[in-house]
Amino acid sequence: MNDAAAAGTRSRALFARARELMPGGVNSPVRAFAAVGGDPFFVARAEGAYIHDVDGRRYIDYVGSWGPMILGHAHPAILDAVRKAAADGTSFGAPHEGEVLLAEEVSSFFPSIEMMRLVSSGTEATMSAIRLARGFTRRSKIIKFAGCYHGHADPFLIRAGSGAATYGTPDSPGVTHRTASDTLSAPYNDLEAVVDLFKLYGDDIAAVIVEPVAGNMGCIPPVSGFLRGLREQCDAAGAVLVFDEIITGFRVAPGGAQERFGVTPDLTTLGKIIGGGLPMGLYGGRRELMRLISPDGPVYQAGTLSGNPLAVAAGLATLRVLRTESSLYEDLERKGAWVEESLRSAAQTHDIPFTLHRVGSMLGFFFHPGPVTSWDEASESDKVRFVAFFHGLLKRGVWIAPSAFESLFVSAAHSDEDLEATETAVREAMAEAAGR
Ligand code: PMP
Repeated sequence: MNDAAAAGTRSRALFARARELMPGGVNSPVRAFAAVGGDPFFVARAEGAYIHDVDGRRYIDYVGSWGPMILGHAHPAILDAVRKAAADGTSFGAPHEGEVLLAEEVSSFFPSIEMMRLVSSGTEATMSAIRLARGFTRRSKIIKFAGCYHGHADPFLIRAGSGAATYGTPDSPGVTHRTASDTLSAPYNDLEAVVDLFKLYGDDIAAVIVEPVAGNMGCIPPVSGFLRGLREQCDAAGAVLVFDEIITGFRVAPGGAQERFGVTPDLTTLGKIIGGGLPMGLYGGRRELMRLISPDGPVYQAGTLSGNPLAVAAGLATLRVLRTESSLYEDLERKGAWVEESLRSAAQTHDIPFTLHRVGSMLGFFFHPGPVTSWDEASESDKVRFVAFFHGLLKRGVWIAPSAFESLFVSAAHSDEDLEATETAVREAMAEAAGR
């Protein structure tokens, strides 16, 4: 029997009801456990480093709501800010002071973001950034990288073609071939492929969009020179460089991957951490570009709930903690290294082919001998072993994303005790997975 049958009685009953009403019983596909089998647990509440399910089980959480919860769940400063904001009304549809304060915070973390627009999700942020890049350059095509995820807007749901110069084909029914033909796809970390695409289509390339550390195919850092090479290619061709820092922003360094790797994009998209666990995204960058957004300029973009006062309060409280707690990033680095070491040594003990990447408190591992620098290599990792390892951890009360191609996130709330418990669970689960 699959260990995942693990989900307790109440979770199972809720899932059965949910499946009648929502596709897959969930509101976002990966939550359904399709890649690992078994039923998902239903969450009752979360605090600090822990998620508690409706059957009374507690998990040490390395999903962190898929990235946002860098301070852990139900952080007192965030709860306090949201409560106060809620008492003053939950949505205005008119400007408020919090938006200005948040924008000031964001540009102090990210000097490249001179002007910005708040939106309500990461998908909205990337979709709008690409529209702006197209409006600015008056060109149609974009380059994205295989295995990078930029939300579910049509131009991003494109698989890599077999050769670098192939036009994308849609990953999902509903995305038209015409849309797909405007998305050029290159392997991650393959600058030569990008150079070739610019040679072929340079005059029509509006933007290159990239996760500066890929977080949606496990965790894959940029190889040396990759980001800088993209910067140079965009400069030479007059294309806009967009860093999708929806995962990496405030995560791999206070000022994101652009700070950590020292390469400055024209536009940046943010999400996840910036909303402190409430729905928020942001796109922004050079003033010259952002001035084209309505109502200053002709590129249209709007949102009924944009700048929502609760989300802004949560985001602002988060950024203030990140700015003022001086040892926070050092501590995250130390904790990330601990989890890294737990995983590495457990895999080594059993001689399991294993590759791990970590950038600060974001990490990902592959049951693959390596190197893993792109989607093609990542996709060769041993999924059967991952499933065994995942369920081994879950039944020991450690929750990682239910897919071999996601990152793990360590939060400021993980205590040394949690990391020790994780180490033990990792050792035992790896021993089980070794036999698979
Ligand atoms: N970009 C990246 C890098 C992401 O990881 C995600 C979400 N996982 C998105 C964009 C889309 O964000 P959202 O789910 O908020 O629409």
